[in-house]
Amino acid sequence: SFFFVATYMISRFISTIGEQKPRTTMLPPDLLAMDLAKKLRFDPHATNLASTDFGNLTRALPAAVLYPSSQNDIATLIHSSYSSHLPFPIAAKGHGHSIHGQAMAYNGVVIEMGSLDGKDGARINVSSIPPLFFADVGGEQLWIDVLHATLRHGLAPLSWTDYLYLTVGGTLSNAGISGQAFRHGPQISNVYEMDVVTGKGEVVKCSRQLNSELYYAVLGGLGQFGIITRARIALEPAPQRVRWLRLLYVDFSAFTKDQEYLISLNADGEGGPTNGFDYLEGSVVNDESLINNWRSSFFSKGDHRRISALAAHHSIIYFLEVSKYYSHFGGPTTVDQDVDSLLKGLSFLPDRVFSNDVSYTDFLNRVHQGELKLRAQGLWDVPHPWLNLFIPKSRILDFDRGVFRGVLKRNATMGPVLVYPMNQDKWENTMSAVTPDEEVFYTVGLLRSAADNWELLEDQNREILSFCEEAGIECKQYLPHYETKAQWKKHFGQKWNMFVDRKQKFDPKGLLSPGQRIFTLSM
Ligand code: FAD
Repeated sequence: SFFFVATYMISRFISTIGEQKPRTTMLPPDLLAMDLAKKLRFDPHATNLASTDFGNLTRALPAAVLYPSSQNDIATLIHSSYSSHLPFPIAAKGHGHSIHGQAMAYNGVVIEMGSLDGKDGARINVSSIPPLFFADVGGEQLWIDVLHATLRHGLAPLSWTDYLYLTVGGTLSNAGISGQAFRHGPQISNVYEMDVVTGKGEVVKCSRQLNSELYYAVLGGLGQFGIITRARIALEPAPQRVRWLRLLYVDFSAFTKDQEYLISLNADGEGGPTNGFDYLEGSVVNDESLINNWRSSFFSKGDHRRISALAAHHSIIYFLEVSKYYSHFGGPTTVDQDVDSLLKGLSFLPDRVFSNDVSYTDFLNRVHQGELKLRAQGLWDVPHPWLNLFIPKSRILDFDRGVFRGVLKRNATMGPVLVYPMNQDKWENTMSAVTPDEEVFYTVGLLRSAADNWELLEDQNREILSFCEEAGIECKQYLPHYETKAQWKKHFGQKWNMFVDRKQKFDPKGLLSPGQRIFTLSM
């Protein structure tokens, strides 16, 4: 049975740091005899690569890595495990930007999704016939490539992540959020249709109308129900330029009040382009976190000095970050007036408005500049004990007191901290993704890196979660990572039974994405 297999697989999934020997014999001989075996690699170079991720906190060596050239290869692999009396775990690896081994498969097979990539954007097909604009995109595609391909048609997706070197399949398995989510919903709310290879090895086309249960399961489904090989992504006409502002606050409640007001302007998505900002985020900064912050390339050196002085004086300050898109087609732009009227009545420090004007591509690809800087300093491939939380609006002031001014203030290492609200009505409850049960909730991203003290930062993360628990803050982890079944059940709340039912339906042998450790824990 499903539970038997799940329990059996625990013994095969152990996440440890250190060397492990690949065990080719864990794979069924039938698989090794197939043509597909030519696309499997067992050498340490391939298996070592598949045993690490961006988090750099955990390792799990697979028995083999599949380099598929088609969706059919993926279906054949999954079917061979599903139909075997010795099923083996399988994980799609997108760009490996998980934190806690979510794309690993100990003693199983990791599918290197990038190997599907057709040359010259062959797996990104844009349909630019009005009124419905969309792109059919391979699950392995990076969002940066989707951006470039769609811009060639004057179009672009509506909802983004901050960083674009992530795969479509990887972000759709979580949610995909950034400063556009308050207005357009997360990326999972902007998908018309998908091709999915289920845990039985079946290829299924799904949408809100067709095989809808699989569609809703897979979006935000943590890779548990199938492998996305194609997604049809909604597009809109792309703007040319972006007016990009950071406004400074020393008072958290004024900062959140203004954020909530600004996202309410677009709550119904109506009203045209002048009716609100197109992007809204926010961050918490202390003196230390301004240095080596991959998100700080926005500021000039002079700005840096002034902000540092203010941060040192107040110990913690807050940036509200907003953008207005615009284009030069059809005469002069009204962006200056639009921005001025949106800023009226806000409570930021009036002499601390920092403004930039950049191309749309530079704006969307902004984090890449920070990445290049950190790479040059050898600070990119280090451990990343990140913690991402969704906090209900009603408790965000308590969170500020307990975490930003509590746990984090007591410890010097703050790192980049993102805080911004989203509208829950832009999320679809039938999808697997989980949010707090309030109309408005905040995302808080604690994006710290550590060369040598990552255990300490993990301890602090645990302290933050305990604080929320003790204070009765109903927070949800985004990009979740839990140790026990009880924690997973609590995370999914009312969705848990649905999640388990869908698992039994679409991946009854519990083969897929074992690194999430939902069904591979003892049950
Ligand atoms: P992987 O780590 O390779 O995989 C993630 C999970 O999805 C695994 O369980 C894997 O098995 C599964 N999976 C992968 N491909 C598929 C597929 N095709 N079909 C089904 N399952 C699949 N997230 C945001 O929402 N917003 C952000 O702004 C943001 N910024 C980030 C910045 C950085 C620098 C990093 C490292 C991460 C960021 N993330 C952000 C998190 C990111 O969205 C997730 O880590 C995502 O899973 C990474 O995508 P990936 O392609 O690397 O996935």
